[in-house]
Amino acid sequence: MTQRNGRPGTTRGLVLLGGGAKARGRVWLVGAGPGDPDLLTIKALKILQNADVVVHDGLVTDEVLDLAPAAARRISVAKRKSRHSYSQDEINRMIVAFALDGLKVVRLKGGDPFIFGRGGEELEACRVAGVDCEIVPGVTAALAASASAGAPLTHRGAAQAVTFVTGHAASGAEPDLDWTSLARANQTVVIYMGLSQAAPIAARLMAAGRAASTPALIVENASRGDERRIVTTLAGLAEAAAALSGPALLIVGEAMALALPTARPGESRDPSSLDAEPLLGMGARLRGNERGFE
Ligand code: SAH
Repeated sequence: MTQRNGRPGTTRGLVLLGGGAKARGRVWLVGAGPGDPDLLTIKALKILQNADVVVHDGLVTDEVLDLAPAAARRISVAKRKSRHSYSQDEINRMIVAFALDGLKVVRLKGGDPFIFGRGGEELEACRVAGVDCEIVPGVTAALAASASAGAPLTHRGAAQAVTFVTGHAASGAEPDLDWTSLARANQTVVIYMGLSQAAPIAARLMAAGRAASTPALIVENASRGDERRIVTTLAGLAEAAAALSGPALLIVGEAMALALPTARPGESRDPSSLDAEPLLGMGARLRGNERGFE
């Protein structure tokens, strides 16, 4: 080029410019789904396979992390009880700094980044810093839990609405939720981060008028090899939750009458082998309700 146009000064200037300007980095906020790598979207997989750095939280399974290139740097920002945890502000600054350094940053989060995932805060931090940020949705835990239990979150005649709430309160006390509205029948309430607060949550719902006999389901490690499901009622929710360590979802609602518990070793998963009485009774009730809506 120097020889061709004979203007080395200009060429040098161009070379300097080209070498001095950093390639633009970028952040992708990617939903890793509930754990089973088969539940990752194809888009998430493609982006993950192209990452320079993967900043992930504790809910992301090793099977999913293994899909990133071997050379990609992996940084866990999982919350730890005993050791230093990264604050949200530190995470925001980290992903922005990597992107400004020209890296392709995948911020990998369990489930969906915008469902109790603090994805909004990270997106805002990128916007403020002028860093491009794309959101890749993921299968949120509620969808995986209801799918594996075979219990729909909405169901004609039994669940006209589904509400996702958090059982976690900033102060560590019980969550401040609209109990009156959550206590109405014929709707499904999915409680994220509610395991340790199951007793006060169930008590509040019942005090607000939700029937103690309302079917309830707890799913721990939804979609993973060690998934456990307990089918209970609102009255039994606290006791059932006490046996689990999480991550787990509490799901309360009439449609949970269709949920199947985890098969115990040696037990058939064939629904016809389960004690059919309560399910059949519920089926009749659901059909009855359905008629009422027609
Ligand atoms: N963004 C995530 C939720 C993060 S909040 C999502 O969309 O799924 C963390 C809570 O999610 C946990 O306390 C638990 O209630 C729930 N959770 C996440 N993964 C789960 C899983 N595989 N099984 C059951 N619950 C899960």
